[in-house]
Amino acid sequence: CGIVGYIGNNDAKEILLKGLEKLEYRGYDSAGIAVRSEDDINVFKVKGRIATLRDAVDEKVQSTTGIGHTRWATHGEPSETNAHPHQSPSGRFTLVHNGVIENYLELKAEYLEVANFVSETDTEVIVQLIEKFVEEAGDTLEAFRRTVELLHGSYAIALLDAENPEEVYVAKNKSPLLVGLGDEFNVVASDSMAMLQVTDQFVELMDEEVVIVKQNRVELQKLDGTVVERDPFTAEIDA
Ligand code: GLU
Repeated sequence: CGIVGYIGNNDAKEILLKGLEKLEYRGYDSAGIAVRSEDDINVFKVKGRIATLRDAVDEKVQSTTGIGHTRWATHGEPSETNAHPHQSPSGRFTLVHNGVIENYLELKAEYLEVANFVSETDTEVIVQLIEKFVEEAGDTLEAFRRTVELLHGSYAIALLDAENPEEVYVAKNKSPLLVGLGDEFNVVASDSMAMLQVTDQFVELMDEEVVIVKQNRVELQKLDGTVVERDPFTAEIDA
């Protein structure tokens, strides 16, 4: 299973699909991407192969921002509904997640309306919490941070906010996640192999950080808001 993300000037859906193909070796049962066009987020997801996802993606959707996912089901059977990306009830937030949220039932019971859930995944709790907190928190980063602080378990997550199209938000705990740096674009990947197609410069993310990825900038912060500086490393290109 794996995660990819892209924000830049090129065709996001092609870069995401290629990235997911490079992650196929990790194993998966379903796959999906979300790409932003105009002010709409388009979600495409399937049970089965990346080749099937490729066929399901609308060629006409023009987009330069998006996230993608291959799923290895842990909560909820492999199905199109349980495949990622998952969206918040209003459709504002779209999220992919690898890992397991151990306290998702507690979080659901404490903060959320069970009737609002469309999937059986632990993941959907994350995206619903972000939407629940955003108004009170004041902005998306703060809502994201509050949500991440509540999660127990392992995760690599990437988030799109329809109201903040210039940013992709990411965080991780006990699951690997990298940000790849490019000229006029940046990417996200659980493995550098997914994005060697566009860059070999990567920054490793650490647990308890939240990261805002923009087209021309990557901002790493600790959960308490402290800014983190970390140099990129050069990934090996191997055939
Ligand atoms: N726990 C999540 C799910 O079952 C993510 C699984 C994964 O890592 O792909 O949907």
